[in-house]
Amino acid sequence: MAGRVHIVGAGLAGLACAVRLAKGGAAVTLHEAAGHAGGRCRSYRDPVLDCEIDNGNHLILSGNRAMLAYLAECGADGELWGPDEAIIPFLDPRTGERWAIRPNEGRLPWWLADPSRRAPDGGLRDHLGDLLRLRRAGADDTVAGLLGVSPLYPRFWRPLAVSILNTPGEEASAALLWRTLEESLALGGAACRPLFPRRNLGQTFVEPALAALQGLGAELRYHDRLRAILRDGKRARALDFGDGERRLGKDDVVVLALPPDATARLLPDLPALSVPFDHNPILNAHFRLDREVELPGGLPFLGVTGGDLVEWIFVRGELLSVTLSAAGEQAGEAAETTAPAIWREVAAALGLADNPLPPCRVVTERRATIAQTPAQAARRPAATAPGGNVLLAGDWTATGLPCTIEGAIRSGHRAAELTISNANVA
Ligand SMILES: Cc1cc2nc3c(=O)[nH]c(=O)nc-3n(C[C@H](O)[C@H](O)[C@H](O)COP(=O)(O)OP(=O)(O)OC[C@H]3O[C@@H](n4cnc5c(N)ncnc54)[C@H](O)[C@@H]3O)c2cc1C
Repeated sequence: MAGRVHIVGAGLAGLACAVRLAKGGAAVTLHEAAGHAGGRCRSYRDPVLDCEIDNGNHLILSGNRAMLAYLAECGADGELWGPDEAIIPFLDPRTGERWAIRPNEGRLPWWLADPSRRAPDGGLRDHLGDLLRLRRAGADDTVAGLLGVSPLYPRFWRPLAVSILNTPGEEASAALLWRTLEESLALGGAACRPLFPRRNLGQTFVEPALAALQGLGAELRYHDRLRAILRDGKRARALDFGDGERRLGKDDVVVLALPPDATARLLPDLPALSVPFDHNPILNAHFRLDREVELPGGLPFLGVTGGDLVEWIFVRGELLSVTLSAAGEQAGEAAETTAPAIWREVAAALGLADNPLPPCRVVTERRATIAQTPAQAARRPAATAPGGNVLLAGDWTATGLPCTIEGAIRSGHRAAELTISNANVA
C-alpha cells in the first residue's frame, strides 16, 4: 500500500485490523483514547482483590475461527486451553439437578437423540423442532416469539439467548442467535469446545497483539482521542485529535474501530449512516476466595439456570467470577447490595453457604454490547457505509454475528481486506 492506515480504537476490532495490515506490510498507526488497549476485553490489577482481573468473563468456543486466526497471527495460539471434548455444564440450584450439553464430534447430530447429552426438559423432537424454527427465523423474530412455548425455553433457550446476545429472550433477535448456533452446535462438537485464556484476557488477546505490532514497526498512540474528521466530500483529508489538524496523505485510509455513538459523532453529516443506539449492561462480580474451589463438572465454568441473579460462574485459581447479562436492574444498584446477594446465591449453589462474603469487586460495563434486538440489528451499518477513504469496524457493525470477540475480530479483518483491495483497485 502506498499510504498509511490510521486505525482509531484499540479494542479487538482495531487490533485485529492493525495486526493483519501490519503483517501484510502496510504502514499502520493505531490511535486509542484510553491509556491502554483492549477496550471491552481487557485485564488489569485490582487493588482491592490484589490480583489481576478481567473486566468480565468471556466465553469462547473452538468454532470461533477468526479469533483463532487472530491469535495465530499474534503468535499467541498457545494462550488458550480447553477440554478435549465439547461440553457446556449447567446446574439448577433450586433442584440440585446437573446436566451438560455434549455435542458429538462430527456434523451428524446424534447427540440430540441421547438424553445424557442434551438439555433435560425436552426430547429429540423438541430439540430438532426448535433448531429448525431458529434456522428459519426472520429478521423480526424474537427468541421468545419463536421458542417461548417450547419446553426447552425456560432452562435452555432463555439462558442461552441472554448470555449470547446480552438481551432478554423476549427482545433478542432469533436470527442472531441462529447465526451463533450455525457456527457452533450445527457444526458439531469440533466447533463447540469451550476455550479459556491460560492467564487472563489481556495476556491472551491484547499483549501479544501489541508485541506483534511493535515488532512490525506499527505506531501505537495512547491518550489519542479522535475528535473530528475533516473531509472534502466523502474523503477524509485530516484528523483532529485536539492538537490541530493532522493532514492525511492522498493514499491514507482511516478505519474507525469505535463504539457506535463515537462513530456517529465523528460522521454527523452522513444521514444515511444508521447506527444502533440502545445498549445493555453486563455485570461481573469477582470474589477472591481463600482457596481454589472446583466447580461441579470439574471445568472452570458453569452455567446456572433457575437462579434469580447468577448466570455463569468462572473460576481461575482463587478467583471466582460471576456474570449477569442484560443486567439493567442490578447495574443501578450499589455494589454493597449486589455483591452479598450474588454471593448468597453462589454459595448456596456450590455448597459454600458457611463461608462469609469474601473480598469482592463488582464491575459493571454499562454499554457492554448493543441491545441485540431485531430493531437495533437492522441499524448495523456495513464497513463501507461512510464511503471515500473511511471504513468502519467494531462488533456492532454488520458482521452478521452477535456482538462477540469473534464478531469484533471479523469486522477488523474485513476492514483490513477492504483496505487492501481498495488500494489494489486504486
Ligand atoms: C462484560 C463483558 C462480557 C463479554 N462477554 C463476552 C463473551 O462471553 N464472549 C464474547 O465473544 N464476547 C463477549 N463480550 C463482547 C466482546 O468483549 C466485544 O464484542 C469486543 O471486545 C468488542 O471489541 P471492539 O473492538 O468492537 O470494541 P471496543 O472494545 O469497545 O473498542 C473500541 C475502542 O475505541 C476506543 N475509543 C472510543 N472512542 C475513541 C476515540 N474518539 N478515539 C480513539 N479511541 C476511541 C475505546 O477506548 C476502545 O478501546 C463481552 C463484553 C463485555 C463488556
